[in-house]
Amino acid sequence: MSWIADRTAAFDSSGIRKVFDLASQLENPVNLSIGQPDFDVPLPIREALIEAVQSGKNGYALTQGMPVLKEALQGRIAADYDHADRDVFVCSGTSGGLVLALFSLVNPGEEVILFDPFFVMYQPLVKLVGGQPVLIDTYPDFRIDLNRVEEAISPRTKLILLNSPANPTGVTANPEEIRGLAELAERHDVALLSDEIYRHFCYDEPFVSPASFNERTIVIDGFSKSYAMTGWRVGFVHGPAEIIDTMVKLQQYSFVCAPQPAQWAAAAALDVDVRGPIADYRRKRDLVYDGLRDRYDLTRPGGAFYAFPKAPWGTGTEFVEAAIAQNLLIIPGNIFSRHDTHFRLSYAAGDDVIERGIELLNAMAGGPRTNG
Ligand code: PMP
Repeated sequence: MSWIADRTAAFDSSGIRKVFDLASQLENPVNLSIGQPDFDVPLPIREALIEAVQSGKNGYALTQGMPVLKEALQGRIAADYDHADRDVFVCSGTSGGLVLALFSLVNPGEEVILFDPFFVMYQPLVKLVGGQPVLIDTYPDFRIDLNRVEEAISPRTKLILLNSPANPTGVTANPEEIRGLAELAERHDVALLSDEIYRHFCYDEPFVSPASFNERTIVIDGFSKSYAMTGWRVGFVHGPAEIIDTMVKLQQYSFVCAPQPAQWAAAAALDVDVRGPIADYRRKRDLVYDGLRDRYDLTRPGGAFYAFPKAPWGTGTEFVEAAIAQNLLIIPGNIFSRHDTHFRLSYAAGDDVIERGIELLNAMAGGPRTNG
């Protein structure tokens, strides 16, 4: 008899890992597959971490987060949103927040609306808690069609999960889409969960949260991407107190807390200006978009650090295999989607790597695209 629980069979291991395994066999690949910033953690944040460790702040943190961080976050959230009922807690990365949110909100059999393409964790996590993912196709331009969302809502719908700026497309929902979705969720009494991990990475328009239009929005955010501290595992969630309390209760019996030294560092991060690295990523976005737009069908990304072009021939998987044979690492779109037509590239890389990647991709496209 297998000892493995049935619930684990509902999904495969992340396809991104498979690409990373392939990558480990390549020598000096042109690597445009990485989903984390290529700049270093800003110095004051590193210093705050070391100081915390050296001064003995190494024990368990409070379950809901150390006051130094939680109170600073609470102050900022209160300044952004004038909501009577909005509490915050510190979790173990945005991923930890996602896990706790789904366990806290979704009963077995309830439906969760996701936009396709989606971040890799969303479907497996929904299935893990016994929920039913309901996918809304956003191809070809990756915009949110509110009519489709409304049509997808059933009596079993519990939650809509939004991610803007988005992984893998880099597309940023516009204020009308955000407001429409926020109001629609409120009208149907459906929970709205907003994954705002790329909030700082908005290149054309200021970031807009659905929490500005729907007071019951649950926001998941974190320090991983904005401060390049993916390995330190600090995230936070804010929303109605009853939901936050429930998530903190579950955190007691699962993650326990986010690492204490990293929380002190995150508190220092709140005073660090990341406009420099963000401006640099805007320039890299332009480099990628301008470098590929003539030969690739590519929606201009407004945020995050990804682009999601259509494969110029073959399936996404076939095209990525050919790219890897040329020493170029990108990720096939079917890891993030029901469709196997696109690929994700991350421009969180040095300019020289991005330029080599663009050159290889343009050579692989074989000629100007013909289908508009
Ligand atoms: N949400 C999205 C959309 C992401 O892209 C990522 C990281 N790739 C996460 C959540 C998880 O981030 P964290 O390191 O905070 O767990």
